[in-house]
Amino acid sequence: MLGDLYATSISNPGFNWACGPACTELEAVVMDWAVRLFGLADHFLNSSEIGGGVIQTTASDSALVAIVAARSRYTTQRPSTKLEDLVIYTTTQTHSLGVKAGLVLGLKYRVLEVTAQDQFALRGETLRKALEEDRSRGKHPFVLVGTVGTTSSGAIDHLDEIGEVLKEYPSIWLHVDAAWAGVALACPEYREVAQLDNINQHADSFCTNFHKWGLVNFDASTLWVRNRKHLTDALDVTPEFLRTKQGDAGTVIDYRNWHLSLGRRFRSLKIWFVLRSYGVDGLRDYIRKGVELNQHFASLVRTSRDFSLVTEPSFALSVFRLSPALHLSLSSAQAEEALNELNRAYYSRLSSRPDIVLTQTVLNGTFCIRFAVGAARTTQMHVDRAWDVLREEAGVALKEWRV
Ligand code: PLP
Repeated sequence: MLGDLYATSISNPGFNWACGPACTELEAVVMDWAVRLFGLADHFLNSSEIGGGVIQTTASDSALVAIVAARSRYTTQRPSTKLEDLVIYTTTQTHSLGVKAGLVLGLKYRVLEVTAQDQFALRGETLRKALEEDRSRGKHPFVLVGTVGTTSSGAIDHLDEIGEVLKEYPSIWLHVDAAWAGVALACPEYREVAQLDNINQHADSFCTNFHKWGLVNFDASTLWVRNRKHLTDALDVTPEFLRTKQGDAGTVIDYRNWHLSLGRRFRSLKIWFVLRSYGVDGLRDYIRKGVELNQHFASLVRTSRDFSLVTEPSFALSVFRLSPALHLSLSSAQAEEALNELNRAYYSRLSSRPDIVLTQTVLNGTFCIRFAVGAARTTQMHVDRAWDVLREEAGVALKEWRV
């Protein structure tokens, strides 16, 4: 709040270094702090003067910008490519941002299938098959949006396998969207599961939102690129009135060339305040607390007869549903339909309550409910209270369903 207050208290269009030196410099510094905080590789540092980080409005904007850079890199390397042959790759679990970028840019997209058996994470083999198929049809996949922590279930794509496949297709850009889960990289013990090494090795760009699970109020989406030139090659348009001595000399960052808009807010102040007030340890404690509270929730689900987890808990997210014992004479398709119907009715009861807010999702045909812990003041008492509400409504839903 204080960061926003400070940012709003001065007129700061901030689009280039000359008109917002403090805004530019603090952002460059704070983004480098965050590289260290998350254990990202040195090539993402602004101080590397090759890669670098920039604060965008949302993860959707970050992905759009990454895809614009990917397209520009691809078409520069292969100038004869027709735009209608370019394809954006996403999976069925990618956030809407992948398809939306396709719609905005007027480009085709291909949505790759993932399976429940693989916990809804993309495998290298699926990617390889699709690439071979598309290439043989004269199509040009040029970017893959991979995810660490999908919205629906917290799935983490197999970036190791994906990286191996993409070695054979070096002109394809890998953007890793870790909008909510990425901040867990602050804790060393979650880095392996969040595939930090593979992000560092294979990603051309990486995004996480401080405004989701990083204690910063909306908006603060942090985007890093391995090579800033790909962003500026795609987005640098400099009419005379935007020219400055410093920009011409190439000695400063002009963030206007790293995103879509020209003017920008002084968002780094918000991250600065949070990092300075919580410190690395404070932020880690907060993330760990969210994960622990979710583990507590998952253990309550596991010990209950009427509920089950649909996927393994992921960081601070559990996906569950009602799954009472069913009549043995039902086929598996009928049983699935009956359970979906029950859970839809159950969810509709939950969503009419004023004291709990959960979102629903569908995972390969299975209707389920998401439980996410994230607020700084949430304690076990709140989780237990939520569990009481869930059981109370389950009792009514099950009774009505059995009648
Ligand atoms: N990516 C993931 C994995 C998300 O969970 C979300 C939001 O729920 C988004 C992207 C979109 O974030 P934003 O609102 O910053 O575009």
